Amino acid sequence: MMSKKSSFWARTSFAFSLLKGGEPTLSHSTKKSAPSSSIANSDAKTLQRLNEALQHGLTAPFYQKRLPPKPLTSLSQWKSIPLLYKEDLVAQSPFGMLCQPREELRQYHESFGTTGMTVSTWLSEKDVQDNYEEVATCAVNFQPQDTVLVRFPYAISLIAHMVHRAAQSRGASVIPASSRSTISPFPRIIELMRKLEVTVLAALPLQVLLLAETAKLLGLSPKQDFPHLRAILTGGEPLPPGKRKHLEEIWAVPIYEVYGMTEIGTAVTSCEQKQAHSLEDYFYFEVLDDNLQTDVESGQIGNLVITSLTAKATPIIRYVTNDRVCRLPEPCTCGRGYPLQIRGRRQDLLWIEQKAIDVWDIDSYLTNLTEAYPSFWVAGLDEKGLRLIIEQEGLKTVATQKEVMSNSSAPAITIETVPVGTLYDRRQLLDTGKVGKPRYIYSRKEMAEQAYLHSDKI
Ligand SMILES: [Zn+2]
Repeated sequence: MMSKKSSFWARTSFAFSLLKGGEPTLSHSTKKSAPSSSIANSDAKTLQRLNEALQHGLTAPFYQKRLPPKPLTSLSQWKSIPLLYKEDLVAQSPFGMLCQPREELRQYHESFGTTGMTVSTWLSEKDVQDNYEEVATCAVNFQPQDTVLVRFPYAISLIAHMVHRAAQSRGASVIPASSRSTISPFPRIIELMRKLEVTVLAALPLQVLLLAETAKLLGLSPKQDFPHLRAILTGGEPLPPGKRKHLEEIWAVPIYEVYGMTEIGTAVTSCEQKQAHSLEDYFYFEVLDDNLQTDVESGQIGNLVITSLTAKATPIIRYVTNDRVCRLPEPCTCGRGYPLQIRGRRQDLLWIEQKAIDVWDIDSYLTNLTEAYPSFWVAGLDEKGLRLIIEQEGLKTVATQKEVMSNSSAPAITIETVPVGTLYDRRQLLDTGKVGKPRYIYSRKEMAEQAYLHSDKI
């Protein structure tokens, strides 16, 4: 059952103001509060679920030192529970946060901390099932007649495995085609997609783009030469509206997304309206201000803090994700409540005079200030303000520069165009990679030529 927590959010019409730094602003408000009795019921249910999560967490030595020994009596006490940072997860890996005995564990994954140290995530049988059921809530809606090509990395992160299981759980067949393998270079993926009549491609947005570039290099049209493709599922990168539209136009199919991370699973999925919704059956969401103390108002961007409500093996409680999100004040027409914008990593912000610019802001600049949304771009700051370098088709010889003076609340933006291929060398896409097998036996001639020194054995 979906939690009724989302009914807390006041109904408000909403305007996303482009060129004002992309900060969502409320245009006007028509507040309509939920009845107080339903809020009380919802509060009681949320408190009960949080207390269950706390009680389960107390089975791990790490949590015993930081969680209250007795159940909370009010939701207001929740904010006194210490926040959990990635450094804590690194320090406790691999076993410090285990809340189940070893014989209950079924699967292991790792992600990386900022210093390159690893974070351990263990999954019980029930955790595995919950994880793929989370993915399956996505409106990409896997079906038995689907052939799903999974182009996420299979080692050693979570997402590929869970998309794989989610598709199979709905009766689809799966092609595991890891993006981090020399066995499955780009041209082979294009061949597989056509030969096997793939209906759903699941990959990072960058991979979706690179596969389209590969198809073009092979003389194919992504729009016309993949007639069985019906949808694309992405994850692992923010997908702001301009970028989504760009990819949808290239492939001529709808794009759905999942948001999550190896240490928590999938926490947000797209609905049929392609809005991102939080999975409140599985997680408790907080969107906090920069001091990580107070909830921000709906419609404001804040820091996402997540608590797992169902995870058994390595549950996380008040985890600071370092991702910025915005809970929209207007409910989605799909009936799943109030959507989230996943605005990207906090460390990826560009700062101009205490004003933060994120990838959604840059996406709005690219959408509004360029003739065609560029597939490849980079952004950074210089002495004038924000500098965008974009690849542009049809450029003759010299890069042209365009300065865009925006209104007072937007930064000064300089757009520099460079020829296609400057930011990403497409020739790499056709590199079939070195694919070898263990080899022990060589011919007399090969022995004489010392061929064993040059063969691809891995
Ligand atoms: Zn929706």
